[in-house]
Amino acid sequence: MPEIDPKNPQAVAEWSGLWVFIEHHAGELAPVSRELLAKGRELADQRKVPLTGILLGHNMEHLAKESIAYGADHVIYVEAPVFEQYATEPYVEACAKLVNERKPEVFLIGATHTGRDFGSRIAVRVHTGCTADATKLEWDMKKVQEKNEWELIMLRPAFGGKILAGIVCPKHRPWIASARPNTFVPMPRDDSRQGKIEKIADMPLSGKYHSRVIRFEKLPEKGAHIDKADIIVSGGMGLGKRDNLKLIEDCAQAIGGAVGASRKIVDAGWISRSHQVGQTGITVRPKLYLAAGISGAVQHLAGMQESGTVVAINNDKKAPIFGFSDIGVVGDATKILPALTEEIKKRKGR
Ligand code: FAD
Repeated sequence: MPEIDPKNPQAVAEWSGLWVFIEHHAGELAPVSRELLAKGRELADQRKVPLTGILLGHNMEHLAKESIAYGADHVIYVEAPVFEQYATEPYVEACAKLVNERKPEVFLIGATHTGRDFGSRIAVRVHTGCTADATKLEWDMKKVQEKNEWELIMLRPAFGGKILAGIVCPKHRPWIASARPNTFVPMPRDDSRQGKIEKIADMPLSGKYHSRVIRFEKLPEKGAHIDKADIIVSGGMGLGKRDNLKLIEDCAQAIGGAVGASRKIVDAGWISRSHQVGQTGITVRPKLYLAAGISGAVQHLAGMQESGTVVAINNDKKAPIFGFSDIGVVGDATKILPALTEEIKKRKGR
């Protein structure tokens, strides 16, 4: 796709509308797509353009309807057996065709395993950029007010989390951004919402692919699954030694939560990476986040600052985590945690 002149209103106007890539697995909508539909809805309303879900699948009309229930105005549903499960080449081929024909201004993709594969490929194919792992997406309202020009600012942590970089892509379209699961909050499902489903069952495809999916095998569930937990009890270097992780595990078990960790204790080999919260770990949004012996580095905060209630235990009253906590306990986590666990057990009658 050639460059466009951002000062030429005609060239800019050719690209219009906001798209969300609808990801699915085993016939179910990926949670991240619901979250992106909510963010997309907000951006599309501000821009006064329709929000379109891009769904590729086989026998998946129900997901087109579900996408509308979660905020889409319009779903382009490309139907073919080859789209039953995600496969890089046919998905990218079909979506590149759609982008080139319909010219959306914005295309949002979940930063999941699938989305990471798809987002980078589609960006290269249509010759634009992709802001990976955006944590905020917003219109530059100053530009709108002063020049009546719309530009999407895609913000993400950069330089090891020291800054939040606003990324713009003035000469290319669409503006592609990926966001991790739990970055945005989905809208409640509303099955009474009306929208248009445009089914394309005859898209010509090359069929020349280097790989094909033979079957999809779900491995036994492993790992911490902290992304889905309502309560997380997380430990950091302030626990002092690996054996003290037990204090976190006991507390998490008593309260019915999952075990989280700072990267420092993951790197130290105390616990597996599937527990790591943060910029290079998992983004979480539990109702309750308890951080014990965690300083609150920006990279850790990037993964948990949208939590409901944050409780921090730290023996340094100046620890940055206290600036992001609803309840701060200044003291030795190795003494406070066992007392807290006992109290929880007592109150739960165990
Ligand atoms: P520390 O910074 O060592 O803090 C320990 C805290 O425990 C201190 O505040 C101390 O006051 C307190 N303490 C000490 N003793 C006690 C006690 N007895 N009781 C209570 N409190 C006590 N980090 C992440 O967590 N997640 C990420 O995804 C991540 N990604 C990163 C990406 C990059 C590119 C970089 C450069 C860094 C990243 N980091 C990440 C690392 C991050 O910068 C911090 O180094 C890390 O989060 C610190 O972990 P911590 O809080 O456990 O340890």
